[in-house]
Amino acid sequence: MNYDIIVIGSGPGGYVTAIRAAQLGFKTAIIEKENLGGICLNWGCIPTKALLKSAQVFKYINHAEDFGLNKVEGSFDFPNVIQRSRGVANRMSKGIEFLMKKNKIDVIFGTATVKKGKKVSVEKKDGGVEEFSAEHIIIATGARSRELPNLPQDGKKVIGYRQALSLPNQPKSMIVVGSGAIGVEFAYFYATMGTKVTIVEFMPNIVPVEDEEVSKHLEKSLKKAGIEIMTNASVEAVDTTGNGVKANVKTAKGNVTLEADIVLSAVGITANIENIGLEEVGIQTDRGRILVNEWYQTSVPGYYAIGDVIPTQALAHVASAEGITCVEKIKGLSVEKMNYGNIPGCTYCLPEIASVGLTEKQAKEKGYEIKVGKFPFSASGKATANGDNDGFVKVIFDAKYGEWLGCHMIGNGVTEMIAEAVVARKLETTGHEILKAVHPHPTLSEAVMEAVAAAYGEVIHI
Ligand SMILES: Cc1cc2nc3c(=O)[nH]c(=O)nc-3n(C[C@H](O)[C@H](O)[C@H](O)COP(=O)(O)OP(=O)(O)OC[C@H]3O[C@@H](n4cnc5c(N)ncnc54)[C@H](O)[C@@H]3O)c2cc1C
Repeated sequence: MNYDIIVIGSGPGGYVTAIRAAQLGFKTAIIEKENLGGICLNWGCIPTKALLKSAQVFKYINHAEDFGLNKVEGSFDFPNVIQRSRGVANRMSKGIEFLMKKNKIDVIFGTATVKKGKKVSVEKKDGGVEEFSAEHIIIATGARSRELPNLPQDGKKVIGYRQALSLPNQPKSMIVVGSGAIGVEFAYFYATMGTKVTIVEFMPNIVPVEDEEVSKHLEKSLKKAGIEIMTNASVEAVDTTGNGVKANVKTAKGNVTLEADIVLSAVGITANIENIGLEEVGIQTDRGRILVNEWYQTSVPGYYAIGDVIPTQALAHVASAEGITCVEKIKGLSVEKMNYGNIPGCTYCLPEIASVGLTEKQAKEKGYEIKVGKFPFSASGKATANGDNDGFVKVIFDAKYGEWLGCHMIGNGVTEMIAEAVVARKLETTGHEILKAVHPHPTLSEAVMEAVAAAYGEVIHI
């Protein structure tokens, strides 16, 4: 065998897996067909946050007067904003190169296909093919933008997230189809920079996985920011023959035609399971994802899969945690199974959203008797000083045992606050323990303590 472990794909699943494997003493290689860092660093988490930061700074500049400063007319060159985002992504990708060297991981560039007998064949960019073998092969090939049959992406007028991150010119108008985290983040970015944005969402609420109160609040905030929102609506067909795009949208009140320069399809992802040898090796898939057990073993011994390519939450931190769990189990360490009920989810538009655990509706459906507490940022000294007090913290506890069932926040800065709830839930902390843990003043985090206090009828500042 050439290696103890070969990892295919270098996203936050693959590269983190490779580093942990190397730390555990495994001779490790990683194979990547594009850029180190995968979607997350190159076309996902990081470049979107760079764009959103530009939008936030632009917004602050245009609201200088709100902070007692002189009025300024902010302006920008769109290509420079895109270039900054690409630069941030490239820097992060270079960082992974450094980490691979530091951990003595062999990086093999090329397209990998798994073979029987624990082998991997790699087609290099120059056309050459090389074969490698390993005791354990970990598939972390990730996913790509999902294409709907009635919304085929041509990359120009009907685009996916890659094009949305690298448009040469700013569109005057854009229809965003799908209002999950990705759709909403792009909608917010483009709208803040001056594009007329319409969101079309199939479900009754935008950000449909979130607690209903959070979804409703975000809808109000985005509408206030000038974004048009259509819920219970679906794009039936697009016509790209004219100057822009005409989208035929089915609504409860009948069909309407929307016109825009560009349509961004943000309707989810499709796992990269094609042409990687799964059929030849006999690795089972189900509904487009690789089937694994709780230790990420596929149906064939010696082959594993983690990250967006398996049917768990498609998030970078999930992919990384799965990879670490997978190699630690291979090493024979005493490992805890992942708790998918305690995975935080964040959306980085403004106001941001951060949540973990059950929504109020889910908690009720599960039969819990619940205590709910809510604290608005309008009552927070820090949020008011920040000039940004839109949003709230909502907490849900089991009335009987005090278990913290769910935490749902909306507001500027909440994505940095959700870890408190994640750690507390991991440690099975009760509401009273949170209440008695003194939070620093003035911080946004006090809103968590106050929301918990509200749940127990002890809130101070409202
Ligand atoms: C616009 C956008 C924003 C996002 N924002 C967030 C966020 O804020 N927070 C968050 O947690 N998640 C976010 N995500 C999701 C996150 O990017 C993914 O969950 C994460 O990248 C999955 O990691 P992965 O390692 O499974 O796969 P990927 O990151 O997709 O990496 C897979 C890698 O495998 C390579 N590969 C594929 N096939 C082969 C092959 N045959 N041979 C060799 N290499 C191959 C690919 O080139 C790629 O580099 C976002 C996604 C998008 C699209």
